[in-house]
Amino acid sequence: MSSPPRAETFPANTPAASQIFVTALSQGPLTRLELARRAGLSPAAVTKAVRPLIEAGYLVESADEEARPALGRPASLVRVDGARALFIGIKVTGDEVIGVLTDLCCRVLLARRLPLADRAPRAVLTALAGLTQELLAEADGLGVHVVGAGVAVSGDVDRAEGMVRYSPFLEWREVPLAGLAATTTGLPVTVDNDVRALTVAEQWFGAGVGLSDFAVVTVGAGIGCGLVVHGRVVAGAHGVAGEIGHVTVDPAGPLCHCGNRGCVEAIAGDAAIVDRVRAATGAEVADAAEAAALAHQGVAGAQEAYARAGEAIGRGIATVANLLGPERVIISGEGLAAYDLFAEQIRDSFAAAAFGSAAECDVQTRPLPFEEWARGAAATAIQSYIGSGPHQ
Ligand SMILES: [Zn+2]
Repeated sequence: MSSPPRAETFPANTPAASQIFVTALSQGPLTRLELARRAGLSPAAVTKAVRPLIEAGYLVESADEEARPALGRPASLVRVDGARALFIGIKVTGDEVIGVLTDLCCRVLLARRLPLADRAPRAVLTALAGLTQELLAEADGLGVHVVGAGVAVSGDVDRAEGMVRYSPFLEWREVPLAGLAATTTGLPVTVDNDVRALTVAEQWFGAGVGLSDFAVVTVGAGIGCGLVVHGRVVAGAHGVAGEIGHVTVDPAGPLCHCGNRGCVEAIAGDAAIVDRVRAATGAEVADAAEAAALAHQGVAGAQEAYARAGEAIGRGIATVANLLGPERVIISGEGLAAYDLFAEQIRDSFAAAAFGSAAECDVQTRPLPFEEWARGAAATAIQSYIGSGPHQ
């Protein structure tokens, strides 16, 4: 590897320090007082936590020239020095790997994609290594070390163990991806579920900034959900949480790959929609794009398949709202391309199934390209580096 990992560690591995760092990262620049208020800590705790971070160059403090008072010194603002360290984030899909190089502020400096010929772990690892090499070579040119990588994979992923327990789309079971990828890339690697990784990016920089409770629901090949409760991304005791794709909405419905019937994903996942459009229209439908095209042309059977999918997604979202009462639900994923085909059904079935005030939850749609998911993977690597991950 051209840029071997340095034995550099983040200088302040206390929960308060990482909390202050994350607050500065996602909401800064801020005055020390505002940092204390937003992190829910005392000004003394902030002073204690920021000192080593400033000394090591992770935080910088400079005068707020815009707020210069008529008399006296201007207030100082604390911000993260993005150029202090670099990270790599990679999202693995069924047919390609998408990688980004980010700075410590998780700003994407550049993005690369590599096609995947094969979904077997060995082929994916080769692609991960190739993509990482390319990004490390670019980082070398910037003269800043890459100190960690994050890899986001769909399915049941145990981040603490670095293990992909079950990924239906990759057809993987029990793949110790973090260890394997660390060996091939030479970097510390954090592996997480892809929707959870995207949720971290939304929490830090997207539609979840400043919210203590929200959910990200993704529609597309699978139906995923990331949850933030009391400001923490929920990973679950066993690495599984928020699996609204496998909430039963029709016990007599189609068989799901998980073995149950009538799960949201068995009705609203791309494959389910394609199957239903084929059965209803008799047309040779190759993929979700063709199914959506038929529905857009006004073919009744195709429109009905989307309506049914929208109903299932709306009920899945209502389940999240009823259980957790999030302030906001962000709907994203590649399935948003067909959103106009089921937006009304999602809204109606959500309103019908949400209980009482849970229906007041703000439901938003946000198109987020795969580079944004890769950025989420980089955010998980930053979390691991600064000691703020879900298990730390
Ligand atoms: Zn299922």
